[in-house]
Amino acid sequence: MIAPDIETAVAELQALVQAAAVVLPFTGAGISTECGIPDFRSPGGLWTRNRPIPFDEFLASKAMRAEAWRRRFAMEQEFAAAKPGRGHLALASLYRAGKAPAVVTQNIDNLHQSSGISAEHVIELHGNTTYALCLSCAKRYELPWVKQQFTATGGAAPDCTDCGGLIKSATVSFGQAMPEAAMRRAEELTLACDLFLAVGSSLVVWPAAGFPLLAKRNSARLVIINREATEFDDIADLVIHDDIGTALAPLIMH
Ligand SMILES: [Zn+2]
Repeated sequence: MIAPDIETAVAELQALVQAAAVVLPFTGAGISTECGIPDFRSPGGLWTRNRPIPFDEFLASKAMRAEAWRRRFAMEQEFAAAKPGRGHLALASLYRAGKAPAVVTQNIDNLHQSSGISAEHVIELHGNTTYALCLSCAKRYELPWVKQQFTATGGAAPDCTDCGGLIKSATVSFGQAMPEAAMRRAEELTLACDLFLAVGSSLVVWPAAGFPLLAKRNSARLVIINREATEFDDIADLVIHDDIGTALAPLIMH
C-alpha cells in the first residue's frame, strides 16, 4: 500500500520494523541529499552536465585520469562537509539495537560509516569515494596525498609508489566489474532478512535493483521509501513517497 500521509506512513513503518526479526536497509542517493551530497543521476544532477568517465577510458588515457581527479577534487568540499542525515541516524539506531545486521548501499559517500555503523557492516555496491586504491596491487591511498601529488605535478594523476599501477578513487565506474564479495554478501543478507527496507533508491540500476525482488520472492516484507515512484511499488507491503529524513526520524534512538 502507498501510505496516504506521513503519520500513517510512520505508524506502519514502526509496526513492520517491530514485527521483523531481521531488517536489511538498502540505500541509494535519496538518503544523502539532505546531507548536501548531490544525486548524480537526477535531472540536473552532475551526470547530466558531465558525462561520467567510463572505466576503459580511465585505463586508456592519462588525460582522462587527470580529468577524473580534477572532478573529484572539485567535489571535495561537498563530500568533506557532509554529515549523516536523519535517515542515516535512524538506520544506525536499528543497527545498534541489533535489529539490522548491516546496511547495503549504492552510495559512495561513507555516511553510513560516519553514522556509527562499522565499516565491515556497510556493504558498498558502488565503492567509496573518500579514499583511493591502486588498481594493480590494491594499496590504499588517502585523498590528501593524491591531491598533493596532483597539485605538485600541475594536475597529473599519480601512480602507485609501490608497483607503478594506476591509482583510482575506490568507486565502481561505468564498465568496471561489480565488486564480487560485496554482491555476494548483499545477496546473503537479502536472503536472511524478513524485512527489506529500500531507502532513497530509484531501484533502476541493475544488478543492485534485483535485491528487493529477491527479498520479496523469499517471503520478506518489502518497504520502499523514496520521493518518486519505483517499478517495485506494486509489490511492496508499504510505500512511502515522502521526505526520507522525515519518514525515518521517528526510528532514531538516542
Ligand atoms: Zn600498486
